[in-house]
Amino acid sequence: MAFAIPKLTRRNTAVTRIACLVISILVMLAISYTPSSKEALAELESNLRIGSAVFSLLFRGILVFLFSAVLVRLITTLWLRFEEVPENTAVIKRGDLCINTTRGIAAIPMYQSKLRSIIESSEGTVVEIVNSIISMGFSLNASDIHISPDPDRAEVVYRIHGNLYPIGEISQLLYPHLVRRIKILSSLSIFKHGVPQDGKLNFEDKTYTARVSVFPTSNGERIALRLANVNARIMDLENIGMPENILLDYKALLNRSQGMIVITGPTGSGKSTTMFSSLLSIQAQRKDSVNIVTLEDPIETNLKGFQQTQVGQATGLTFPAALRSVLRQDPDVIMLGEIRDEETASIAIRAAMTGHLLLTTVHANSTSGVFNRLSQMGVDPVQLSSTVHAVLSQRLCRQLCPSCRKIVELTDSLVRQLKLLGVNNIPEAPFYEAEGCTECLGHGFIGRVALFEMFIVTDNLRNFISRGLPSHQLSREAKKAGMQTLLDHGLKYALEGKISLTELTRVVSE
Ligand SMILES: [Zn+2]
Repeated sequence: MAFAIPKLTRRNTAVTRIACLVISILVMLAISYTPSSKEALAELESNLRIGSAVFSLLFRGILVFLFSAVLVRLITTLWLRFEEVPENTAVIKRGDLCINTTRGIAAIPMYQSKLRSIIESSEGTVVEIVNSIISMGFSLNASDIHISPDPDRAEVVYRIHGNLYPIGEISQLLYPHLVRRIKILSSLSIFKHGVPQDGKLNFEDKTYTARVSVFPTSNGERIALRLANVNARIMDLENIGMPENILLDYKALLNRSQGMIVITGPTGSGKSTTMFSSLLSIQAQRKDSVNIVTLEDPIETNLKGFQQTQVGQATGLTFPAALRSVLRQDPDVIMLGEIRDEETASIAIRAAMTGHLLLTTVHANSTSGVFNRLSQMGVDPVQLSSTVHAVLSQRLCRQLCPSCRKIVELTDSLVRQLKLLGVNNIPEAPFYEAEGCTECLGHGFIGRVALFEMFIVTDNLRNFISRGLPSHQLSREAKKAGMQTLLDHGLKYALEGKISLTELTRVVSE
């Protein structure tokens, strides 16, 4: 909407009331002096047995008052609905954000009391509350902000390094206004309440992005924001925690001029980080003689020297269409956000067979499962075996707090869980857990470490893949060939006291 509607202040409300009263009086006068309606009114009055002139005047006065009240109600309701719609108020300005990333989770108690005082001191200035919640989320490097309503309040929770930290509470009275503000900031409909809506927060400073999801629950609409800073520094491949042997092989594979490398793992396991670090590594290895294009949904990080394209609903450009066209741009390396349908899979394989190195992600629960998944999408196993160089799988594990971790006995339940995961000889070594202390705000964890597993397609394994072997058999063959699994990597960390076995079994069985 291009025009701005002024705020409905107390003064504006008073003016509206007077105007409505005047209109109602005029309408009544018009009715009283128009011959046809005059008769109808007289008939109504005689039906109601209003005889005298005084009572008639009183009756007409009441009608005027009622009509005016309805009119005021109608106008103010509509006014309130539209007053904040103009685009100029629906952006988070640079000055609205106050971001300070220096202190990490140690700053959480400070932010909790700061938010409480903002909410208490300025009941009603929802704009300020929303700005603070978002600024604090970025300051704490939160990956997500959840605002979940229950019958008497709504709780604001941040997800930082996989842990959930409550940060504040919003009264049920204020909450609908907060939802409305967030919807307006993300250009979502403020009239729809019973349906899920997805959008993006509008930031003036394009460095910041936040995906918004509004979801109806029995207590009101629940909000989830996924935060991203597109200028966040990309880590070097050497620093993302890959074991030395995997790193060396992986870098060698990235130097290939064609074929496909697939990264798999659940949502939030750091696949994007690995993908971008890989592209940087390719750029560094091949100097300037490489044309790297990316097709992403959404673009999460700005990269220098790469051609990045936003694909997906927001632009109306689909992955298959984008991929087909980008091949005519003479790329050497293509980063494709995800393969999730047959059409994309078939174009991707063709691209990887015709002189392009293609990096992509596929949703599967293991490295070997990727081959089955791609076959299900209609890719010929023979083509698959000759195109895919390797599948990299990863998980993020919460790291034990060094201040409060301590040695624990192995419980029967843990032994059983490890056995179910295929660990029959559990090493006789101290394992650790952490109870929580002031350093880690009672969570027992600080930061995360990544676990990796790489399925390299050797000649021997190529044979099995082209025969369409099921994933558990492929996995067995790969292990025979020396593949180090996620579990192997995790056990190493558990023995070093970096992670707990409970966390390892949770993460690896995902
Ligand atoms: Zn601790």
